[in-house]
Amino acid sequence: MGIKQNIEEIITQIPEGVKLLAVSKTKPLSYLEEAYEAGMRDFGENKVQELVKKSENFHEDVRWHLIGHLQTNKVKYLVDKVYLIHSLDSVNLLNEIEKVFGRVNKTANALIQINIGREESKTGILEENLYEFINKIEKCDHVLVKGIMVIIPQGDEESNRRYFKRTKEIFEELKTKKFKNISMEILSMGMTHDYMTAIDEGSTLVRIGTGIFGERNYNAGGEKNE
Ligand SMILES: *Cc1c(COP(=O)(O)O)cnc(C)c1O
Repeated sequence: MGIKQNIEEIITQIPEGVKLLAVSKTKPLSYLEEAYEAGMRDFGENKVQELVKKSENFHEDVRWHLIGHLQTNKVKYLVDKVYLIHSLDSVNLLNEIEKVFGRVNKTANALIQINIGREESKTGILEENLYEFINKIEKCDHVLVKGIMVIIPQGDEESNRRYFKRTKEIFEELKTKKFKNISMEILSMGMTHDYMTAIDEGSTLVRIGTGIFGERNYNAGGEKNE
């Protein structure tokens, strides 16, 4: 096992300005500790309970990212725990975050998850509904959107590149416009098997699990109903 070496190797590959998120879902704190010692301060989890539990038992200066689908009834547990919600994927969820964070007069930072591959099995906003969704974000007082996140369909490099390119186009398009509560700073795309392609196409944040911590025992990746 070489968590430190894995991180060092990835860091030499990614250009400055691209952030590395260590996706630590299903992994024990001892693994996270190795990553922490290698300098990692941003960790990604896909389940709320796991994020909360780990955050309460780990270094205080870590920034916790929620990268998996978020059920509305779990939003309340994230207050004061989550640094960035990558998976803002529905109007219902937006409304719940606004309500829950509003109650304690806090603000949630989030990325709009776009279902770029239009897959039934994945959550996320469809391109044609984006502006309607943005309209609702502009009416919020407790949600700040910092960019876009995508989980692309499985495919070969050419297919990956196409989805990353399209996402980057949307990101750039939104960047040219002025919306209340929205700034396009973070483009979260790319995982272990495709992060170099993602960076090539403009990613500013790559989410890497297997490439840092090794294989997981089950597929915990970005699907509905988990
Ligand atoms: C699990 C997961 C990752 C990391 O996947 P790897 O292939 O292990 O790098 C990235 N993003 C999301 C949304 C995930 O659920």
